[in-house]
Amino acid sequence: MRLVDLRSDTITKPTPAMRRAMAEAEVGDDVFGEDPTVNRLEEMAAERLGKEAAMFVASGTMGNLVSLLAQCNRGDEVILGDMCHTFLYEQGGIAALGGIHPRPIPNQPDGTLELQQIEMAIRPDNVHFPRTRLIALENTHNRCYGAPLTVEYMHAVGELARRHGLKVHVDGARIFNAAIALNVDVRDLVADADSVTFCLSKGLAAPVGSIVCGTREFIAEARRARKVVGGGMRQAGVLAAAGIVALTEMVDRLAEDHANARRLAEGLANIKGISIDPGQVKTNIVYFEVTHETMTPQELVERLNAEGVRMLAIGPRRIRAVTNYHVSAEDIEYALSVFSKVLG
Ligand SMILES: *Cc1c(COP(=O)(O)O)cnc(C)c1O
Repeated sequence: MRLVDLRSDTITKPTPAMRRAMAEAEVGDDVFGEDPTVNRLEEMAAERLGKEAAMFVASGTMGNLVSLLAQCNRGDEVILGDMCHTFLYEQGGIAALGGIHPRPIPNQPDGTLELQQIEMAIRPDNVHFPRTRLIALENTHNRCYGAPLTVEYMHAVGELARRHGLKVHVDGARIFNAAIALNVDVRDLVADADSVTFCLSKGLAAPVGSIVCGTREFIAEARRARKVVGGGMRQAGVLAAAGIVALTEMVDRLAEDHANARRLAEGLANIKGISIDPGQVKTNIVYFEVTHETMTPQELVERLNAEGVRMLAIGPRRIRAVTNYHVSAEDIEYALSVFSKVLG
């Protein structure tokens, strides 16, 4: 039976080129700064994002955490979106481990925060208030239909932050999806960011790891933060080798994932019992509502799964599908035929 796994782009397995690079990787003790493959990945990543320096970390969650630990003091406040990953899905780690106070404001459907609402959330100097230190953005925005935030918007937030003496962090878990979808240089998207995290282990298909980028000074602080959360790694070159392949060979092909996501969305729009606006799908994440009279998303997901099509039921009406390296255009046709069969 055909298996079409659309639960997430995190299910992607290392490519044959990654496996070879991992087997042959030159390694050393990275806590001593002596792993040549980690060092090469970090240099490549910094150059690719237009930043001075970079650091390899275990995950996107760790990347966001150490970025904020490095830039905020205990009791500082961070303005972020109420739908963002750091607020919803990271166990409140910035508060639990860093004493950092999150100030969520509403994410707009396109993943942005309204500039006026950001500005209103900035605290004046007053003994009652925490100090606002940083604005965190997510690009692409996972919960907001995988929306890419534009260069113009990123610049506008950067300008606002500078005006108020604030830092900007970008959770760019899927920043290359944004760059490809908008047809811009990723450097322009993160030019205003003091720190950026991106994932090697999602659409780019590396088995493990994320990258944190910023100034040399910031990375030195982030390296201390990584060590204190237990993230110092030794012969991590075996992992970084796959990351190098991810950066060199797997970025441009993200366009295929976007085309497949659009195909899936357009097909679903023609199926009774499903509600979706395909125009909202700009990258590799597809959300749709189940409007069928009797079938719940959970039941639908189970019926699809029995036919080899995997998706995630999210909430009482919604399903999420994420296209990835292992899903072809033919797989999308197959998935749509299964939908017709199950709901028809
Ligand atoms: C996946 C994701 C993360 C966290 O990455 P992990 O590697 O799963 O820890 C952070 N932010 C966003 C937007 C994500 O999609």
